[in-house]
Amino acid sequence: MSEPAAARSEEPEEAGDAVLRTENLRKTFGGLTATDDVTMEVERGTITGMIGPNGAGKSTFFNLVSGFYEPDGGSVVVNGEETTGMDPHEVTEHGLVRTFQTPRKLEGMTVREAMLVGPQRQLGESVIPLFTQPDAVAAEERQNLQRAEELLERFEITHLADQPATDISGGQLKLVELARAMLAEPDLLLLDEPVAGVNPTLANKLKAIIRELHEDGITFLIIEHDMGFIMDLADPIVVLNQGAVLMEGSPDEVKNDDRVVEAYLGGGGGD
Ligand code: ADP
Ligand code: MG
Repeated sequence: MSEPAAARSEEPEEAGDAVLRTENLRKTFGGLTATDDVTMEVERGTITGMIGPNGAGKSTFFNLVSGFYEPDGGSVVVNGEETTGMDPHEVTEHGLVRTFQTPRKLEGMTVREAMLVGPQRQLGESVIPLFTQPDAVAAEERQNLQRAEELLERFEITHLADQPATDISGGQLKLVELARAMLAEPDLLLLDEPVAGVNPTLANKLKAIIRELHEDGITFLIIEHDMGFIMDLADPIVVLNQGAVLMEGSPDEVKNDDRVVEAYLGGGGGD
């Protein structure tokens, strides 16, 4: 363009630095379009919210970008590299980690053991390093264990470490899931309804932890139907409706947008 080079170079380099970018991302189930050509970005350093009525396609979007579903069209770029069609563990290696709306059952494990299932691609998972680099395997296991202990302490759940993971409350399980996700050292953490079914005290604790991790440099994309929680925490907020992006804006812009109100009324409210 006609802009002088000097003016261009003054633009902050991080402008438009997307940790996640999707283009025309699409997923259909039979005749249903769950994700309808979603083009969006999550800017690095933000806590981005994702809301929308029940069935809007929020969880499907998470499944697509995290590699749990194969898209029918479009692309996903994580940290500047195309990850479309990659397996979840490969996407994790690119820096994107997610938690589940309904945490997986962790039967037969203590909380500490459940956490250690988290780190991706441990050396010990492949047989060869066991023979060629036994010291490296042991060192990595020790390091993961130490990091797990630090996270348990940081999230104030050390007292739960030796309990069966199936015995803890739903809210505590959300904390364990978050701690476990952190072990994978994400750049972008996707949380699907982190405070659904969580009591207000624990929800506030989760909010404080998310803010702290955000200050440490983690970018968040959070689906949440608790409007008070997400409006307080996130900016910008992306609104999905019937699989498509309805709008994106600040919490105030979203709150005052007639289309958003209509979408929630039309969608039966709730989620
Ligand atoms: P949200 O998380 O916004 O409530 P979902 O992404 O879970 O919405 O669902 C979007 C739509 O896709 C819904 O109509 C849902 O029934 C459908 N859907 C989601 N996952 C599947 C699946 N695995 N098979 C068939 N339909 C699905
Ligand atoms: Mg959902």
